[in-house]
Amino acid sequence: MTVETTCCVVGGGPAGVMLGYLLARKGIGVKVLEKHADFFRDFRGDTVHPSTLEVLDELDLLDEFLKLPHQRAESAGGVFGDFEFLAADFRFVPARCKFVAFMPQWDFLNFLSEKARRYPGFDLRLHHEVTDLILENGRVAGVMALGPDGDPVAVRADLVVGCDGRHAVTRRAAGLELLEFGAPMDVLWFRISRNPGDPRQVFGRLNYGRMLILIDRSEYFQAGLIIPKGSFDEIKNAGLDRFRAGLRRIAPFLDGRTDEIQSWDQVRILTVQLNRLRRWYREGLLCIGDAAHAMSPVGGVGINLAIQDAVAAANLLALPLKERRATAAVLASVQKRREFPARVTQAVQALAHRGAVKIFRQRGPLQAPWQLKAAVRIPGVHVALGYAVGMGVRPEHVGRRGERDGHTLPMVFGFAVGLAAALTVLSLGRRKARHARATLQSHG
Ligand SMILES: Cc1cc2nc3c(=O)[nH]c(=O)nc-3n(C[C@H](O)[C@H](O)[C@H](O)COP(=O)(O)OP(=O)(O)OC[C@H]3O[C@@H](n4cnc5c(N)ncnc54)[C@H](O)[C@@H]3O)c2cc1C
Repeated sequence: MTVETTCCVVGGGPAGVMLGYLLARKGIGVKVLEKHADFFRDFRGDTVHPSTLEVLDELDLLDEFLKLPHQRAESAGGVFGDFEFLAADFRFVPARCKFVAFMPQWDFLNFLSEKARRYPGFDLRLHHEVTDLILENGRVAGVMALGPDGDPVAVRADLVVGCDGRHAVTRRAAGLELLEFGAPMDVLWFRISRNPGDPRQVFGRLNYGRMLILIDRSEYFQAGLIIPKGSFDEIKNAGLDRFRAGLRRIAPFLDGRTDEIQSWDQVRILTVQLNRLRRWYREGLLCIGDAAHAMSPVGGVGINLAIQDAVAAANLLALPLKERRATAAVLASVQKRREFPARVTQAVQALAHRGAVKIFRQRGPLQAPWQLKAAVRIPGVHVALGYAVGMGVRPEHVGRRGERDGHTLPMVFGFAVGLAAALTVLSLGRRKARHARATLQSHG
């Protein structure tokens, strides 16, 4: 079977469904092909950031969206050893919603795709797995997919947008070069029930060479244990008792609830990747979201970045698609706009990975470094971090606001102030260490 459309979006994740919605809203025919039969999958991140909520507001969807069950976090903090600290404060972000909403990703995707169906151009095809690209004269002219009954379906399109995530078929078939930056960690995801008296705004716990993330999902915690890359087999071999005891050491308040983990089947592994395409496009194909830049879970920003990519792509592509002139130059303008946010965010994540390696090496009880204690006392640092996580580097807008630049400058400024403060504190630390070494040598 062969079908034709203006834009074929491969992948019904946050980037693909948002892009499908926005293009259909502009009157463009768009087919979104998703390999799964529905949006119900394993946990893939539940965060809806203030800048994404702002986009929903600009689309007049926010009030209805916020009626869906969700939790709100106005701030995010952690516990390093026994030092509890506030990291990001979202109450001052320049958006209507001054919080991060936690909602299962399938609720978000169901909501958005339901709303998209009111536009005649929107066609979501579930159970369609893309297997290859159709290439004609060196140009991508569509995709080959397997339909629900396993029969091949050819979808011909003026433009294919690869939103098919970290293992994208589209980018592989197009031969786009992937730059791998490596990541020293993997994450084990599982659930533990939550008691009403449990800490609410504390997400990360660092101790005994491990980091435990606990996301409040009302009746339960979505928990993530960050472990050295490739060490899951070793952890499994040591047994569930050791695993549960390790969790209790990091978060003693969980106590008997760790016994809810009765089998390794309840523990899923996410192999963390940090990579980016050198070029996000070729004639007839553009990649966005994780397909263009796989994000580490550090900061929980991957979904937001994918959505901001989709908003920028829709802003830049709608008119050229209508006029059937989505040339390589137009596709390059999407990369030009979105590569900077991806680069900056990945650079910060890579820095955090280095910190994680140091934590992995310390198997005993951790002491918070004085640099951290000093950094969280710098005035404005929580607000700057709240902006960085909540809004992202270059928040995008739909409608008339989309024609103006996002808050690039305040973000870069906030980021620069935060980084400068962190570097000052670190260099002071190094100077102090050098001084201590010199004193020891002169005494020794
Ligand atoms: C366990 C885990 C936890 C995470 N936690 C967070 C978090 O807390 N906050 C956060 O912001 N980010 C988090 N992330 C990252 C986040 O999920 C991604 O950055 C984000 O989903 C990227 O969106 P995307 O639309 O680009 O890709 P994806 O969400 O990966 O969507 C890709 C879609 O394409 C479909 N697909 C793939 N191949 C094909 C094919 N050949 N044909 C058709 N369809 C295909 C997939 O089924 C999927 O629906 C997490 C990721 C994982 C795995």
